[in-house]
Amino acid sequence: MPSLRTAEAAISISPNPLINALGWLIGLVVACGIVVINSETHTDLAPTILYITLLLMAANLFSINAVISIALMCILLLTAMFLYNGGYQRWDSTTGFFRCLTALSAITFLALRSKYAADRLRLNEVYLIGAQRLSQTGSVGFRGDGEEMSWSDESARIFEYPLTQPPTAAMVVARTHPDDLASVYEVFAKAARHEPLIEIKHRLLMPDGRIKHVHMIASPLFKQQESCEYLGAIMDITASKEAETALFCAQAQLAHVTRVTSLGELAASIAHEVNQPLSAITSSGEACRRWLDRPVPDLNEALQSLDRIIASSCRASDVISRIRALSRKCDPLRQPESLNNIVSETLGLVQQEMAHHNISPQVELLAFSGQVQVDRVQMQQVIINLIINACHAMGAVKVRDRVLHVRTWISDDEAVVEVADQGSGIAADVLPSLFTPFFTTKESGLGMGLSICRSIIDFHGGRIWATSTVGQGTSFKFALPLLTSGGAN
Ligand code: ADP
Repeated sequence: MPSLRTAEAAISISPNPLINALGWLIGLVVACGIVVINSETHTDLAPTILYITLLLMAANLFSINAVISIALMCILLLTAMFLYNGGYQRWDSTTGFFRCLTALSAITFLALRSKYAADRLRLNEVYLIGAQRLSQTGSVGFRGDGEEMSWSDESARIFEYPLTQPPTAAMVVARTHPDDLASVYEVFAKAARHEPLIEIKHRLLMPDGRIKHVHMIASPLFKQQESCEYLGAIMDITASKEAETALFCAQAQLAHVTRVTSLGELAASIAHEVNQPLSAITSSGEACRRWLDRPVPDLNEALQSLDRIIASSCRASDVISRIRALSRKCDPLRQPESLNNIVSETLGLVQQEMAHHNISPQVELLAFSGQVQVDRVQMQQVIINLIINACHAMGAVKVRDRVLHVRTWISDDEAVVEVADQGSGIAADVLPSLFTPFFTTKESGLGMGLSICRSIIDFHGGRIWATSTVGQGTSFKFALPLLTSGGAN
C-alpha cells in the first residue's frame, strides 16, 4: 500500500540538519568574504547589498530560520563594517548606511515572504502527492485537440510509464484494452467538442497481459474560443472492480444453490407437470393405434392423434427445458423480456405446489407493451421464492381463505409485480430484517431466499419491499425499470 511517507520522501519540506548547517557555513563564509573584500577595497555599500541579496536568494533553498539568521548576520556584519570603517564620522556615508539597512530589511522581508510561499507550496504538493498515492488517483491535464498533455506521477504509475516520459494521447491509446478503444476515442471526440464534463470507465491492457480498470473524469479548466484545457482525475479502480466481480460471482453461486434447493421443493410439482403431457402422449398413442387397427384404418383420426402426441411431447420438453434452465449454472444474461410472460411461465412451474397446499391463485396480469431488461431465470427464481414463502405462510389458514394474489402493473416508468398472501403476516419489528441474509423464522429455513431476491432485483436496477399486517397477510412487491415507455394498453 503506498504511504504518505513515500510521498514525503519524494518532496522534502523540512531540509535536514546537514543542509541547514551547510547553509549557515556558506552564509558565514560569503558574508565574511564580502566584508573583508569591501573593507580592503573600500567599495561602496551598494554592491555589498547586491551580494547579500544573492545570498538571501540562495538561502531560499534552506529553512526560514536559516534565511532569518543569514539576514541578521548580514545586517550585523554591515553595521560592524560601517563602524570599523568609521563611516559614522561622515554624513553621506551615515545616510548611505541607513539606506542600505532599509534596503536590506526590505529584501529580507521579500525573501522571507517568498520562502514562506514556497514552503506552503511544497507542503501542499506533499499532501497532494500523498493523497494521490493513497487514493490511487492521478491528475491529468490535456488540451481539447489532444495535442498537449501532462499528468502527475501517480497517473504515470497507473499507466505504468516511466515518470520522466512526457505523456501523449498515443501512450493512452497504446495502454487501452482493444475492446474499450472506441470509448477512449469517444472521449477524444468529446474533448474536441469542448464538452463540459468527460467521464469514462475503461480497461487498460498492460504489456504483461494484466488488466487494470480506470475511471477518468475531467472538466474544462480554461475555455477560450479556439482551445480548451481540461483538468481531470484518473482513478485506479482495479481493486474495487475485482472485489465487485468476486461478490457478483459469489452471489450468482449462492443464487444457483438456492435455486436448486427450491427446485427440490418443487419436485412433486415438476413431476406432475411432466407427467401430464406424458399421460396425454400415452393415451393419444393408444387412440392412434386403435384408429389404425380397424379393418378400415381411419387415417384422419390417426393423424390427429399423432398431432396431439407431437404437441404433448413439445409441452413435456418445454417443461423440462425450463427446469433445466433453472438448475443450470450460468452467468446471468439480461435481455428484453415481458414480465407478464415470465410470471405466467413461473406460475406454470409452481401450479402443482399451490394445488398441493390447497391455494387458489388469483392472477391479474395487466397487459402492457413495456418490456424489462432481465435475466429470465433469475426473475423466475424471485417469483418462485415469493410464492413458496406465501404457500408456507398460509399453511395454518382455513383452506377457503388460502388465496394468493399475483398481479403486475405499470407505475410511472417501472413494471411492478406483487405476490400477496392471506397468511400469518409479519410483525412490524421483524419487517426490516426480512432481506438480511440468514434471517429465518422457519425450523428448516436457510434465511437466504429473500436476501437473494433482493440482490437479484438490485442487480437489475430495481427495488423490492414488503408490507404486512399480522394475521391478515403479507404483500411482496418488486419494481423494475421499464425498457421502453410502452404504458398499459
Ligand atoms: P426462509 O424461507 O429459508 O426462512 P427467506 O429469506 O425466504 O428464508 O425468508 C425469511 C423469513 O421471512 C421467513 O423465515 C419468514 O419468517 C419470513 N417470510 C417470508 N415471506 C413471508 C410471507 N409471505 N409471510 C410471512 N412471513 C414471511
